[in-house]
Amino acid sequence: MLMLIDAFPKIGLRPAVFAALVPNSADKLLKDVAEEIMCDHEMLGEGSMGVRTKMALRISYITPSELISMRRVSKVAIVDVRDEERSYDAHIAGSHHYASGNFSGRMPDLVEALKGKDTVVFHCALSQVRGPTCAQMFVDYLSKKSEDAGIREVVILERGFNGWKASGREVCSCMDNPCKAEAA
Ligand SMILES: [Zn+2]
Repeated sequence: MLMLIDAFPKIGLRPAVFAALVPNSADKLLKDVAEEIMCDHEMLGEGSMGVRTKMALRISYITPSELISMRRVSKVAIVDVRDEERSYDAHIAGSHHYASGNFSGRMPDLVEALKGKDTVVFHCALSQVRGPTCAQMFVDYLSKKSEDAGIREVVILERGFNGWKASGREVCSCMDNPCKAEAA
């Protein structure tokens, strides 16, 4: 057993940190214990990196000025989850509209619409309830999907559309979805 563990670094495996943690190993055949340890190592290795990357998708908040700088360096999609307000209250140029009211049923469409993007910014009017709720639903949806949608970051725009507008940022009043206006 110990020889096997000692051999890990030599054959390129990480040190056997789990070796002492295999439960009830005293009653098991050496072969079974060794197999269990090897499986732990496989799980730590390349095979599960995709899954681990997905699990690392955490939602954070950004300010309007951070969003503007983010748009310069990342492939950002803005997703407006306000409901009927969008039709009479303008929107951020270039944003998509996925109303919170029927958001869950439209997530497959959203994933399709986000192809080629790596960052998704959610917002509602104030980003207090609908924005964060839809962002979380979307992250959960991505984590259950088997194929990688390519999204590396999910963020919420602080203070939502109202905060964006109040800080003097440019808004658009077109009726297109997604909005085809150039991002400011
Ligand atoms: Zn527009």
